[in-house]
Amino acid sequence: MSVSSAHQPRIAVVGGGIGGLAAAAFLGRVGLRTTVFEQAPELGEVGAGLVASPNLVRLLRRLGAMGRLLERAVPLDVGWEFRRWEDGRVLSAENLSESCERRYGERTYTTHRADLLSVVQSAVPDGSVRLGMRCLRVEIGDDRAVLTFADGSRVAADVVIGADGVHSSVRSAVIGRSPAAFSGLCAFRALVPAERAPAFALRRAQTLWIGPDHHLVHYPISAGKSVNLVAFAPAGPEAIESWSATATTADFLAEFEGWDPRLRELIRASGTPGRWALLDRPPLERWSRGPVTLLGDAAHPMFPFFAQGAAQSVEDAAVLARCLAADLADPSRALRRYESIRGERTARIQAVSHQRAHINHLADGPEQQARDASLRGSDPLVANGWIYGYDAELAESEASR
Ligand SMILES: Cc1cc2nc3c(=O)[nH]c(=O)nc-3n(C[C@H](O)[C@H](O)[C@H](O)COP(=O)(O)OP(=O)(O)OC[C@H]3O[C@@H](n4cnc5c(N)ncnc54)[C@H](O)[C@@H]3O)c2cc1C
Repeated sequence: MSVSSAHQPRIAVVGGGIGGLAAAAFLGRVGLRTTVFEQAPELGEVGAGLVASPNLVRLLRRLGAMGRLLERAVPLDVGWEFRRWEDGRVLSAENLSESCERRYGERTYTTHRADLLSVVQSAVPDGSVRLGMRCLRVEIGDDRAVLTFADGSRVAADVVIGADGVHSSVRSAVIGRSPAAFSGLCAFRALVPAERAPAFALRRAQTLWIGPDHHLVHYPISAGKSVNLVAFAPAGPEAIESWSATATTADFLAEFEGWDPRLRELIRASGTPGRWALLDRPPLERWSRGPVTLLGDAAHPMFPFFAQGAAQSVEDAAVLARCLAADLADPSRALRRYESIRGERTARIQAVSHQRAHINHLADGPEQQARDASLRGSDPLVANGWIYGYDAELAESEASR
């Protein structure tokens, strides 16, 4: 698919996170020029990790970005290694080194968020990003929209893609103002330099320690130079939704009082942890209006318990680009088609991610015992096949026009 310059619509993407840059990259790949408006003075991501599952990796490969990914991503040998909170007993684990590529054509990797952002950025056409552009308002007409920025400038576009995250201002313009709800959970995150991390945390494994009201996930990132730690706990009264809100190691340790000493040793080895509240939004039935649509967390923020938020934003980008390229005569219709292809899948992942909070946080008792038995009897690599085996571009071409 490629578009002649006579038919180039003016496409504006609001937000230069993983989803917004992926939109520019996939649109560039079908010959559509894009301007990404990012509020920050430079592109960047917070210091934390991500799991890149095969459904994401196959799209990065199509962007020609695999070389860049492999420079620093860690290929996992073991995924979803669930361990019991008090003694670290392994409840189940995926053997990724043997089965993942054979089954899904790609491996699963872990990566620093900033590394993944730069992998996606490497596929964005030069000159597509404008920094320091905070979008305040979107006026939506029948066949164009006008963006107003904090510096007073206004930009008209034939298509606007809101990729501006969980507090999206574009979302407010599309569906009306609806602040995200507080979930009652908070997340701690920390990085541990490899030289300070216990050996078990350096394995190429995504490990989850699950227990009453809490769970903690760790895996190596940055070519094995550090270990990413993210933990979930009841939030308490102070619900600050900010990546930069900090806590103390003592606060972090207090949440895991009585847990396996190896886990506590890992927490002790980390620096000052970040702490922030997890927000919640139910799935939307529609997220496009006229020539304006949403993508990624702006459309369907999800609890991180299936490690799919970034992957879903890149899938959105791949489908959106193909829908637009296939129907340039009527961009609004193309956006509705994009939304209809993506709605069911993203709502399902939002729902299963939501349920996981309850499942991961069961107190010891009959329900926990039933959960542990079912973990022992299942292979997440197979059970999650509907997530990992999905090919977003194939889904677009198979959807009826
Ligand atoms: C603890 C945790 C762990 C996670 N782990 C995983 C994982 O393992 N795997 C995975 O796939 N996903 C994971 N996710 C989810 C993933 O981080 C998000 O889903 C993903 O980053 C969403 O990308 P996005 O581009 O939609 O939004 P964001 O990353 O939020 O980007 C939005 C961008 O828009 C910009 N912006 C905001 N407002 C404006 C404005 N008004 N004007 C201009 N620019 C604006 C912001 O500065 C930012 O650059 C995790 C999330 C959390 C919280």
